[in-house]
Amino acid sequence: MQISDLFLYSGLTPEDQVVFAKAFQICLRLFGTDRCWRLDRRKHPAFMGFNFSQATSVVYKGVDVRPLILAMSGRYKEEGQVAIRRSTCGSPHCLNPAHYYWGSKSQVMLERFGTRRGGQISVDTIEGMRMGRLQGKRVLDLSRQYKIPYHTARRICAGETYENTTEIQPEEPLSALWDTTLKICTAIINRYPEESKEYNLAVQVTDHLECPWHRNGFPGHKGNFGLMGECLDCMEEIKKGRCSVDVTNFDIDWYWQVKRFWEQVDIRGEDECWPWQGATRKNGTESTAYFPSPFHSGKVHSASRVAFWLSRGYTGKYRVFTNPDCEPFCCNPKHLHIREMKDQTEPLIMGEIKLNHGNIFQSFRKNLSEKQSGPTD
Ligand SMILES: [Zn+2]
Ligand SMILES: [Zn+2]
Ligand SMILES: [Zn+2]
Repeated sequence: MQISDLFLYSGLTPEDQVVFAKAFQICLRLFGTDRCWRLDRRKHPAFMGFNFSQATSVVYKGVDVRPLILAMSGRYKEEGQVAIRRSTCGSPHCLNPAHYYWGSKSQVMLERFGTRRGGQISVDTIEGMRMGRLQGKRVLDLSRQYKIPYHTARRICAGETYENTTEIQPEEPLSALWDTTLKICTAIINRYPEESKEYNLAVQVTDHLECPWHRNGFPGHKGNFGLMGECLDCMEEIKKGRCSVDVTNFDIDWYWQVKRFWEQVDIRGEDECWPWQGATRKNGTESTAYFPSPFHSGKVHSASRVAFWLSRGYTGKYRVFTNPDCEPFCCNPKHLHIREMKDQTEPLIMGEIKLNHGNIFQSFRKNLSEKQSGPTD
């Protein structure tokens, strides 16, 4: 099978194929040839479409990526082979082609047991144990000698696992792998010039997008977004426990939006619910807060989501939930959370609540002079 056939059968569109090939080029630059390519840890719009919710492998646009990873490095499946991740690889969500190979089912077992207790099982171990058993040694002694759990040792000696060690073939050298991989990337990208141009544009545009917390003339909160459109600079602040209702945190461009939003919230005590008083839809079952967001085409969101963005940080497409015992459409930042990040986003203390600037123009001038004397943080 050829690379073109493989991608055809996988059902990936030309756009998807370009993104996939580009991801390989970017990873090679980012991580090099030896390390794991952990896209689940490296959030960037360039890796949009990769899904890490399955425990055993990465899924790209609904397709298991393992055959694609291998095909990207010029290796195609043969009769009876399965895609195997090396036991030295740190994560089932790794994309590094050097961490995968096609092999037999026995090799899967070998890799799997090899990861336990420092990887003592090898073909030599297996043959050594069987020889020892033939010579009349006890399984318990063999398991101690080779530092392998007793049950595994018993199965190996009984020939229940790795019944045929000759099936386990030596590995092919990886020297040519990177050459082939880069050639295949280029071939895919050149095959779809239009899609490649669009891709470059899309990634560049997201690089220039601004988070609502970005302040003109200051670095940060610009072009640094994760796969869900969350601002990675905000994520740092959220993890530190940022929790503030303060319109002066925002640039003049966003100021009126932020102020208008909080004016529609019934702000009560720090531990009470803060119900949304603004517009709702679907017979009052959904709150609708107007707030333009860099990662949404629609300009209306749930009030709780906007409250989270404006008090904790901009988290893009992640869904924001209130506590189960909250009043409807609660906007108290201390009652809001994102399920995927629950353990890392506990708010610390809420600072002073500031809903206006005092004299907005005076503070805008202050901002300007700060800007002229350079960033203060
Ligand atoms: Zn790896
Ligand atoms: Zn931000
Ligand atoms: Zn509440």
